[in-house]
Amino acid sequence: MPAKTWNPWEMALRQLADVAKRTRLDDDLHAVLAHPRRILCVSIPTKMDDGSVRVFEGFRVQHNLTRGPGKGGIRYHPAVTLDEVKALAMWMTWKCAVVGIPYGGAKGGVICDPKKMSLGELERMTRRYTSEILPIIGPERDIPAPDVNTNAQTMAWLMDTYSMNLGYSVPGVTTGKPLSIGGSLGRNEATARGCLFVIQAASKRYGIPLSNPTAVVQGFGNAGAIAARLLNEVGYTILAVNDSRGGIIHPKGLDPVAVLKHKEKTGSVVGFPGSAKVSTEELLTAQCDVLVPAALENQITAPIAKKVKARVIAEAANGPTTPDADAILESRGIAVLPDILANAGGVTVSYFEWVQSLQSYFWSEREVNLELRDVMQRAYHDVQRRADQEKCSLRQAALSLAVSRVAEATRIRGIYP
Ligand code: NAD
Repeated sequence: MPAKTWNPWEMALRQLADVAKRTRLDDDLHAVLAHPRRILCVSIPTKMDDGSVRVFEGFRVQHNLTRGPGKGGIRYHPAVTLDEVKALAMWMTWKCAVVGIPYGGAKGGVICDPKKMSLGELERMTRRYTSEILPIIGPERDIPAPDVNTNAQTMAWLMDTYSMNLGYSVPGVTTGKPLSIGGSLGRNEATARGCLFVIQAASKRYGIPLSNPTAVVQGFGNAGAIAARLLNEVGYTILAVNDSRGGIIHPKGLDPVAVLKHKEKTGSVVGFPGSAKVSTEELLTAQCDVLVPAALENQITAPIAKKVKARVIAEAANGPTTPDADAILESRGIAVLPDILANAGGVTVSYFEWVQSLQSYFWSEREVNLELRDVMQRAYHDVQRRADQEKCSLRQAALSLAVSRVAEATRIRGIYP
């Protein structure tokens, strides 16, 4: 029987219901938090290179704007759905609250297959999508960033389109921009570096050996490839990695920098010299100290959770573990550093970038990384303390902390009018 995969929105609602019950959240506040504040569905007519016009479907969802402007990435993927974008927007609300940065949660997505589109087609689609969501984005309203299959170039087109419409440059409308137009040093590595800081903060408690720890990484993009490199730099042996085309394993360890070069040349990690092929299931259940899912949702399902051999799972991806898998991992004593904590480094340095853009005053990479470390360590210890107090998992503790912060902000502002 195939493993149950979850609709991400149902998963997000179930997590909220669980935390609401455990923390005796007021029913009215629960109802407010269970609904996205605003959903914009747009058609994106795009001129293709062959002269035809294709109409793509896109979304921007703002889940909650109580603690500040919306913040969240834009995903380009054939499997994007509105429910997925709603879930990702809700998780952004919790993530910003866990790390204590003054943002609400938002997310965007376009149903498309960017691997089958030319650069020109991607640019035209991005600019039209930006124009369509323009009324609800802006430095004080909602600030997009990169996510799966979008990058600094995508953000440059978005920033330019927004600025052209306003008649002056508005670098604060997006984060994850190239450095040449007001990006922040350290932003490209921030998700992975934040994940590393959380792993390091949790290492002693969860028995990660000091000498020659091992890691396995699923997904080899911005979050995964950089996490593999940074873990390797601090002494981890990277046993296996994969991407959408397949996986590779090497018992003596892979060199993440060389694997990335191979991927840049061939389009995939597969075929890296000296490595053997590995299936997704073998990779996720390989013996290692830290497993880093850094691809998509619904990867660690119940049947996989029963076989996971890692001591710690550090969720660089959003929503990689299903709720039924979570319960199994908890009963097996495997610690899960949850997504809304473990991958919050990206949004944290996005916040630093936004602050720098608004002030036109830029920090050194060292300052960015030191500030990031402070934020991630504090957030981990806040979550760990709550887990100890409430005798619950780190995910439940992170959600409980986040929901209580957003609920308090909502309560004190009141329901308008
Ligand atoms: P990306 O597009 O840079 O990379 C995604 C990688 O996952 C690619 O290597 C792709 O080949 C691989 N992949 C896709 N499907 C896969 C599958 N079924 N099995 C294995 N690998 C697969 O995207 P990213 O920005 O690295 O995002 C990855 C995850 O991290 C997402 O869940 C995203 O929401 C999350 N995240 C990203 C950021 C960020 O700043 N980029 C911040 C927080 C969270």
